[in-house]
Amino acid sequence: MSAPDLLMPKPMLAQTVEALDRAFTVHKLWQAQDPDAVLAGIADRVRFIAAGGHAHVDEALIAALPKLEIIANFGVGYDSVDAAAAARHGVVVTNTPEVLNEDVADLAMALLLATIREVPQADRFLRQGRWLNENYPLTPATLRGRTLGIVGLGRIGKAIARRAEAFGLKIAYYGRRRQADVAYAYHPSVKALAEAVDTLMIIVPGGAETRHLIDAEVLEALGPEGVLINVARGSVVDENALVEALRNRTILAAGLDVFADEPNVPEALMALDNAVLLPHVGSATIHTRRAMGQLVVDNLVSWRDGKGPLTPVAETPWPREKA
Ligand code: NDP
Repeated sequence: MSAPDLLMPKPMLAQTVEALDRAFTVHKLWQAQDPDAVLAGIADRVRFIAAGGHAHVDEALIAALPKLEIIANFGVGYDSVDAAAAARHGVVVTNTPEVLNEDVADLAMALLLATIREVPQADRFLRQGRWLNENYPLTPATLRGRTLGIVGLGRIGKAIARRAEAFGLKIAYYGRRRQADVAYAYHPSVKALAEAVDTLMIIVPGGAETRHLIDAEVLEALGPEGVLINVARGSVVDENALVEALRNRTILAAGLDVFADEPNVPEALMALDNAVLLPHVGSATIHTRRAMGQLVVDNLVSWRDGKGPLTPVAETPWPREKA
């Protein structure tokens, strides 16, 4: 019997592809001259999807694959997969939680420090030869005395909070509910949190529910000493409102790892010297990406062997809930 058919819409790590090639008949859609024709030819056989590279798996694709059983997403954030539609079609979705927490939290702190202490700007200053004539100006911002408001105190949010405590920051948070086992101050809305702190760290899931959670009103509440760090998803922040707030110094500075229309970054953001911009590298170490890839493989193999998914997402719980 041939290995079960697996659809891979976008390229994944070589190590992950090799592991999947050993266990499945992998259809690498991105290599196809005519992806639609390839898809039509395998549509009634595909049981598995390995979704890397933020591959868009929407309801149309799910509905076009009547034998589809599982979508294994490469990444803890799965806003590019329509998990609600998958649930309606009886398809399980998995993601890659936990294995990336520490590297993403490190990057979040690096971005916070880089933004506050103007690390990329100082690097540019040196390379431009300007140090030969003058010292780099003293930075208006310092981490000293700041309170970090974490929007989304989940797995990664807590790893960031542990680091922030070591840096001497006070911590507060917003989520949909207060967490009983957490001693940090809870605020029942993002606006209330922004009013209470001077530094916001965004690490909630993306998608419709959190779209533009950070808008002009929240930025106004954060205030002129305010620093915004977004390592969540670009959709969570109203990018136009942020550009305005940075331009007008409604807030002091922002550090962004994620953008609304990646990899396109608005010229208006790039023109601002009070923004530090990174190309979505939160989890981008070889160590962590390999661990994420392995978890994708483990989920798919576990499912193939009849042992269920290892890390199903909330919309598709396992064992299945009784209707
Ligand atoms: P968790 O599910 O552990 O935590 C998510 C947190 O967000 C929870 O505290 C939850 O609290 C809160 N939350 C969820 N939905 C909402 C909502 N609608 N409104 C307000 N708060 C909400 O996720 P992780 O910590 O593992 O990951 C968080 C996100 O980080 C990912 O979904 C991904 O988008 C992003 N990420 C970005 C990376 C990068 O490269 N920049 C890398 C990895 C992750 P509550 O339920 O109480 O509301």
